[in-house]
Amino acid sequence: MTLDEQTYSLHGAHSEAIALAGGIPLIIPYVEQSTDIKQLVSLVHGLYLTGGHDIDPHLFYEEPYHELGVVEPLRDTFEINIINKTLSQRKPIFGVCRGCQILNVAFGGSMIQDIKTQVDRKTIQHIQKRPLTYASHTITITHDSLPFDILSTSHLTVNSYHHQANDRLGEHVIASAYSPDAIIEAIEHTDYPFVLGVQWHPERLLHRETKEKNESKLMFERFIHEAKKMM
Ligand code: MN
Repeated sequence: MTLDEQTYSLHGAHSEAIALAGGIPLIIPYVEQSTDIKQLVSLVHGLYLTGGHDIDPHLFYEEPYHELGVVEPLRDTFEINIINKTLSQRKPIFGVCRGCQILNVAFGGSMIQDIKTQVDRKTIQHIQKRPLTYASHTITITHDSLPFDILSTSHLTVNSYHHQANDRLGEHVIASAYSPDAIIEAIEHTDYPFVLGVQWHPERLLHRETKEKNESKLMFERFIHEAKKMM
């Protein structure tokens, strides 16, 4: 696909995860024409933000660095718009990977455009070279955070497929988890009942986890539980 051809593609694991947790997945396209996003949000009970390309650094007042990848400005602005409309209806939001980043940017936060070249300290491999159905690095979940409440643990191993990360957090956004190299791995908002972003891909870990407790499934189930309160 070339950049001027607007096509949509989504890994099936996202919609499978929503369905597995008891929700009805609906894919929302981003469109250039003005559309009534408030009306659109009134049709759903929650907003799930998927992974994808890099985020336009102008949204956090930075120039593009060399290592910045493909950006889709239309998707960025559309997602920020739909995040704001979802918040105004106090419906739950769950973001994974890029979804965790666009959430923070929507609240006025900034990003590390490229971990490898922009972080001075030694960092671990955040673009894993094993399949995403395997976890690759550990994270520490902050006590009293939303993920801690869902999982009842502060230790988790997650998959990782991101070269960007959240940097300065937006207003009333807090970090809920960190990797061992101090990269933010989860965020939440303190003023809304359920606004959660995770830097990893729980949707790809649903079937591989053989332990009794499937953490990824628990996270999707909590999101759907919150969404059902809006019915
Ligand atoms: Mn990571």
